[in-house]
Amino acid sequence: MGRSSKDKRDIYYRLAKEEGWRARSAFKLLQLDHEFNLFSGVHRAVDLCAAPGSWSQVLSRKLRGQEEKAGGGEEVKIVAVDLQAMAPLPGVTQIQGDITKVSTAQEIIRHFEGQPADLVVCDGAPDVTGLHDVDEYIQAQLLLAALNITTHVLKPGGTFVAKIFRGKDVTLLYSQLKIFFSGVTCAKPRSSRNSSIEAFVVCQHYCPPDGYVPNMSNPLLDHSYDVDFNQLEGPNRVIVPFLACGDLSAFDSDRTYPLQLDAGKQYQYTPPTQPPIRPPYQQACHLRKNNLLSREDGSSVRHVGTIIFSVN
Ligand code: SAM
Repeated sequence: MGRSSKDKRDIYYRLAKEEGWRARSAFKLLQLDHEFNLFSGVHRAVDLCAAPGSWSQVLSRKLRGQEEKAGGGEEVKIVAVDLQAMAPLPGVTQIQGDITKVSTAQEIIRHFEGQPADLVVCDGAPDVTGLHDVDEYIQAQLLLAALNITTHVLKPGGTFVAKIFRGKDVTLLYSQLKIFFSGVTCAKPRSSRNSSIEAFVVCQHYCPPDGYVPNMSNPLLDHSYDVDFNQLEGPNRVIVPFLACGDLSAFDSDRTYPLQLDAGKQYQYTPPTQPPIRPPYQQACHLRKNNLLSREDGSSVRHVGTIIFSVN
């Protein structure tokens, strides 16, 4: 493939280089801003999953430009987080970290000196496996991690923008986002290929439920969180009804009962209704039944495929 073939095929790739953006995805954020006026009045912004840094570049150019125009009012602060290191950018503080960790949220808050952010954006994407269901699931989990971290740092009324895969379970994600934002829109910028299921949720007017306390508990992402779910309170604690079905006359599944339940009636073994068709232990049973596992010396070992059976 010649050096210019990608330039020919992908107009945004070419334009990104011409305009000095690190990646073509810069146009996605620019087009989202054009539609939603994302940057108006924003002084503190967080770019989650930022490397190689084209969204941070957009934030830096736009927010610092605004500040300059306004004659240098409130100082602009931008924090960029990624697992990978990225080349420095003017006015952008980098945190090399994982957005699923509470320590990353704490580091962002420290940088803002306790002040909340006006805008959080996340263009996060895991390494694609090619298995669509798995990719969609991992992307959804990354978005929830971004939402979690956002609840730690975003001001009430603030905006959250994140990449989303419009897979079959996307409505569940919308419902989860609607708990925290009064406005949730799914947007597809022109620079995002139509052939891709990628889109962006623009979540406006952050308004967490009354009494909501941010926490990073997502047992699906990190089992090491030291969270006692029973200690969660208010809207953080979800209690679903527990219903014990059946009464005391039903058999207790933890007890052992005699084979003969009806006095005077002979017990008769009933075979399983549908035994397994080709169970993995079938060959072993056959060998054992036919005494093919034993050697003359009494102790016998035989390899069946990769399984080793030892019979004494
Ligand atoms: N918005 C970026 C830009 O415009 O240059 C491109 C982001 S790239 C599509 C996705 C990024 O997500 C990768 O750099 C990857 O390292 C990052 N990422 C994936 N999982 C992450 C995680 N758990 N924590 C932090 N970053 C993560």
